[in-house]
Parts: sequence; C-alpha cells; structure tokens
Amino acid sequence: MTFSWQPMAADGAARAGLLHTAHGTVETPVFMPVGTAGTVKAMTADAVRASGASIVLGNTYHLMLRPGAERVAALGGLHRFMDWPGPILTDSGGFQVMSLGKLRTLDADGVTFRSHIDGSRHRLTPESAMDIQYQLDSTITMVLDECTAYPATHETASASMALSMRWAERARTAFRVRDGYALFGIVQGGVYPDLRARSADALIATGFDGYAIGGLAVGEGQAAMFDILDGTVPRLPADRPRYLMGVGTPADLLGAVARGVDMFDCVMPTRAGRTARAYTSLGVLNLRNACHAADPAPIDPQCSCPACLRHSRAYLHHLFRASEMLGPMLLTWHNIAYYQQLMRGMRRAIVERRFEAHAGAVSAGWGGRKSFFFEKKNQKTFDMK
Ligand SMILES: [Zn+2]
Repeated sequence: MTFSWQPMAADGAARAGLLHTAHGTVETPVFMPVGTAGTVKAMTADAVRASGASIVLGNTYHLMLRPGAERVAALGGLHRFMDWPGPILTDSGGFQVMSLGKLRTLDADGVTFRSHIDGSRHRLTPESAMDIQYQLDSTITMVLDECTAYPATHETASASMALSMRWAERARTAFRVRDGYALFGIVQGGVYPDLRARSADALIATGFDGYAIGGLAVGEGQAAMFDILDGTVPRLPADRPRYLMGVGTPADLLGAVARGVDMFDCVMPTRAGRTARAYTSLGVLNLRNACHAADPAPIDPQCSCPACLRHSRAYLHHLFRASEMLGPMLLTWHNIAYYQQLMRGMRRAIVERRFEAHAGAVSAGWGGRKSFFFEKKNQKTFDMK
C-alpha cells in the first residue's frame, strides 16, 4: 500500500478524501486524538476505536524519555505496545522541547535538553528524530522543527523558520522510505505571510508526503490563524494531505476545513474530559456546575456515545464532585466521540456540497441556548465565509 491522499469530493476549498497508509485507510478531514505517552488518557484502545477515531497521535519527546524508543521497538513497536494497529502519527518532539525554556539549548545542529522527569541530558537532531520515530514504527513521521515563539519579531521568526527549513531537508535525507509510511514537512514563519510563503515553497522544493502547518494556536487568536491559513493552504500541493498542528476548538476545525485543511490533533477534548468540560452540539458545558446536579438529561441529546446513552448529566456531575475516575473516563469518551461526530458531519456535508450551510447550522447550535457556555473567543471571531 503506497502512502497517498485520494480526493473524493470538494465544496469550495473544503475537501474530503481518503488517506491510504501501511496501517489502514483514514477518511479526511480527520481529527486525531492525542495519545501523548502511548495512551489516549483515560481511554482504552477499544474505546478510542469505538468513538470513531481512525488515527491517533504519539509523542516522540515523551516516548523517547519514557519508556524509550528502543524499548518500544523491542516490544514490537508502538502499534503493538499500545494496541493500536491503525495509523499513528508521531510529532517530532520539537514543540515539547522548545517549550522547556531554560532546560534546553538550541544550536544549528540540533537541540540539547534536560528531561522534565529526571533532569537527564538528551539531544535531538533532525536525524535522531527520524531514528526515534522509525523505532516507534510511526506511520506518519514529522520533521524536527523549531516552533517559533509567539510573539516574535519578523527577524526572529525569519531566522527560526530558516533553521527549520534546513532541518527539514536533513530530515528528508535521513528518513528511511518504506511503503505506506510518510514524512511530513512543517510550514513555519509565525504570523508573517511572506515567511509562511517562503517556508511552504522551501518544503515543496524538498518534497514531502504531506504538509503540516505549525506554530499556530499559540496565542495569535483565531482570526490571525485563519488569515495565515488563507495565505498558506492554497500554496500547498493539492494532491498531498494538509495537517494543522495542535488545533483546536470545534469552531477552529470548521473554519480550517473550510480553508482546505485535512488533518487535526489537539489535547482539548481529552484535557477537557478530565476537567468536567463537555463539548456538545449545543456548546460547552461545565458538568461541575450546580445546575447539573439533578439534571436527568444526557450530556448531549444528539450523541450516541456510552456516556450519553446510559448516563445523565446528574451522574457525571456526581462523579466529578466525588473525584471518581469514571468521570474523566466517560467524559473523555464523550468529547472524543463528539469531535468524531463533528468531523463525520463535515465530511458528509462536503460530499453533499452543503458545507457552508452545515457549518453555519453547527455553529448556530452552540449559541442557541443560554444555559450553555459558549467560548467568547470563537463567538467574536468565528465568521464563516
Ligand atoms: Zn456523548
């Protein structure tokens, strides 16, 4: 099976397709639950599958520190280790290492850092990031990049982007090509359209199996992020998958799919699931709030996940108030299921060429009732074209 993205339908810039990989086929646009340390937190692999997810994310930084890439390789690779035979995308560790601040030193050749776990010294280079992801048996490998800090001056963002592009070339050389496996480049350049354009052009010249857009959702705001997508996505090859890293809220996903993005990952639904926040077709709900204490309704009447089919908001409220671990388990399941339903709805709408109307209706649902908290950031800036 050759790695490829097969277009199936388009509506405006939004597109639906099939991602063929060594570990199975994925329908796009797709949301990938984050399994940082070889587990989507609070969920069994069976539950992740049952939620409708078809590809998950692993994290090079966390797995190289614990249990170590060599151990994962000796135990049959990440797919077997975490009981996920389907496709796995691993990030390169760049984002986590860059967030270590004083614990890391960047040079032209790579980055040296201290583990957040035990303070031990480690080094990542564009080449070693390829080796580690090879040992993990990652279906989709990401190049090591420097995630440009936000805010950054044009000069700083330019130098950072140039470094990432040199590293991307080295990664391309070091990557061991295997049938059905892929290497993605990452567009950087901060909030500067000229740098984003140069970065995209440099990656295309090197040639990758897919193109990611990194360094967004770091504080620039949704409107600025959509502006960057408007400038960047049309430059990317139409026959390759496009992946917006670390994004985002349901409104972010609607807006990015409208702009031609195919793949997403974000910790939001899983993290929210551990803090009593539910994403629903009617907005965001905080199940700790007293108003849910006696509410027999399901979390989301439109959802068919086990938490919604079998339990009430009152029960979830009780579990969170009592610090029972079933609370985060059920709500993470629901949130992942909600994100999968959101993507499924978008895919269907693209195929039926009614994406704009669909996105409007979904977004109207979030603002439809006062009892639901709707994230103001999105309400203010989300505006479908
Ligand atoms: Zn549900």
